[in-house]
Amino acid sequence: MIYLDNAATTLQKPPAVRRAVGQAMATMTSPGRGTYGPAARASRTLLACREAAAALFQAGPPENVVLTFNATHGLNIALNSLVKPGDRVVLSGYEHNAVTRPLAAVPDLRVRVVRAPLFRPDRFLEDFARQLDRGAEVAVCTHVSNVYGYVLPVEEVADLCRRRGVPLVVDAAQSAGVLPVTLSGWGAAFVAMPGHKGLYGPQGTGLLLCGGETQPLLYGGTGSQSRQREMPDFLPDRLEAGTHNVPGAAGLLEGLRFLRRRGLGTIQRQETALVAQAAQGLARLPGVQVFSGWQRGCQSGVLSFRLAGRDPGWVADALAQGGIAVRAGLHCAPLAHATGGTGDTGTVRVSFSTFNTPGEVDRFLKRMARLA
Ligand code: PLP
Repeated sequence: MIYLDNAATTLQKPPAVRRAVGQAMATMTSPGRGTYGPAARASRTLLACREAAAALFQAGPPENVVLTFNATHGLNIALNSLVKPGDRVVLSGYEHNAVTRPLAAVPDLRVRVVRAPLFRPDRFLEDFARQLDRGAEVAVCTHVSNVYGYVLPVEEVADLCRRRGVPLVVDAAQSAGVLPVTLSGWGAAFVAMPGHKGLYGPQGTGLLLCGGETQPLLYGGTGSQSRQREMPDFLPDRLEAGTHNVPGAAGLLEGLRFLRRRGLGTIQRQETALVAQAAQGLARLPGVQVFSGWQRGCQSGVLSFRLAGRDPGWVADALAQGGIAVRAGLHCAPLAHATGGTGDTGTVRVSFSTFNTPGEVDRFLKRMARLA
């Protein structure tokens, strides 16, 4: 199979990730609950995972790295910490349901969406600044659109927010492991990311980098301050109730080590080249509409397209019959589709990892040529 659905979850993982998950299941118990061998090993593994992430994402001390179940979990903690009923929230028009649904659950929110068109970072920044200047308690910006691969100018957004004193939440679900992501460099309140996409960890893992005040989302045992009725007031315990996904963290640690060895620059160049190859090939086919911004330097390893007269689901099924895995439809981001003008049918999406090759893109394009 040619797997081109890496924006959902990377399927091919470094072998060390798989080995670490198995070893953790065989040799580790709950961390922070005892000094016997299997508990101590688990504690050391979680700490090593936090340290590796803190170094890669410039998050300060390892305690600022909270282990979550996925990016959605981290975003829920971040928004629960910052957003109160009645607040004014500015967000990009490219947000995932992992942002818009938690916000929709808060009463009386005044949400302003920055709807600048696709692949126009200049227009995006102008509009973001304008919306912030109307007053905001919180801002949210995805780093890379999971629908179009559009790299938003998050560094400049962070600067706009910092100068106005507005706390910023960054959704790095599609950028972590591919582009530079920095908690301290951006001065963000939170950066949330999955462990199971570009970090090559197992499903059921994620990271929340915390740069500001936090509010627990889950309450329960932490193995610390057990006599106290309230959750501990220190990180990461304050945001990590219950038993950890230790095998997941062990695998994620190996994913982070793999990234350090391979280098983000290499991965980014590789994915951008694959996107350019796919976009150029698709653009030559009759009836294919491609959403591409790589020529302007603002697209990473995700690409959306449509075939005239065919539902995206039909295209994805036809590709699957040829052994090519892609995703079709609304990609859990109806807001991004509305902003990009694809809210009616959605799109077909191909998304790459460091394990994809130009030969695989060729085979995908040959199959698409037959369908077109
Ligand atoms: N945000 C974006 C931009 C995403 O692409 C995704 C997943 O596709 C998420 C959030 C949610 O990630 P997770 O499935 O790890 O909760």
